[in-house]
Amino acid sequence: MVMDFEFRKQVMDYHQGSEVIKYCYQCSRCTDNCPVSYVTDEFYSVKYNPRYNILNALLGYKDKIFSADPLAIWGCTVCDTCDEVCPQKIELTEVFTLLKNQSIANGDGPDFIYQQAKTVIENGKAIPMQSAIERRRQQMGLPDIMAPNADELQSLMSNMGIDKKLK
Ligand code: SF4
Ligand code: SF4
Repeated sequence: MVMDFEFRKQVMDYHQGSEVIKYCYQCSRCTDNCPVSYVTDEFYSVKYNPRYNILNALLGYKDKIFSADPLAIWGCTVCDTCDEVCPQKIELTEVFTLLKNQSIANGDGPDFIYQQAKTVIENGKAIPMQSAIERRRQQMGLPDIMAPNADELQSLMSNMGIDKKLK
């Protein structure tokens, strides 16, 4: 394992409370309360572990983070539970956002993330309307759902350069 000091500094700088983040004492409350950790422990071969992510990020073990199973970074659903229970008030999700952004910048994001982003750009929403859902809504007497304006979203994404990143 190689300690990458530049990466370590990026993590420290990115975190708003960098004075506090140094004092993660690995109590594991984040992992013990993480719903993704709970589910993956039951049903997946690799348990998602935010405590490991924080440990590796703070120690600058960049390779360990980015060469691991994509779940190591992308398993986090940003529910913010870990931020709320951390006794040291560490904003883990801020650090995980940095890791996700770096993963995309390196072109290492998992396929399902690119596919999901493509769906959002093309349809203006994460889950496009389907005829089965429309039928069900009609049966239940629910009103039609207006399609979002995907053109607006595409212009926004284009101005932010996100379309290029996805390519
Ligand atoms: S809850 Fe906070 S202090 Fe405890 S291991 Fe997680 S990040 Fe570290
Ligand atoms: S924000 Fe992410 S790491 Fe934290 S508890 Fe939720 S899913 Fe787990």
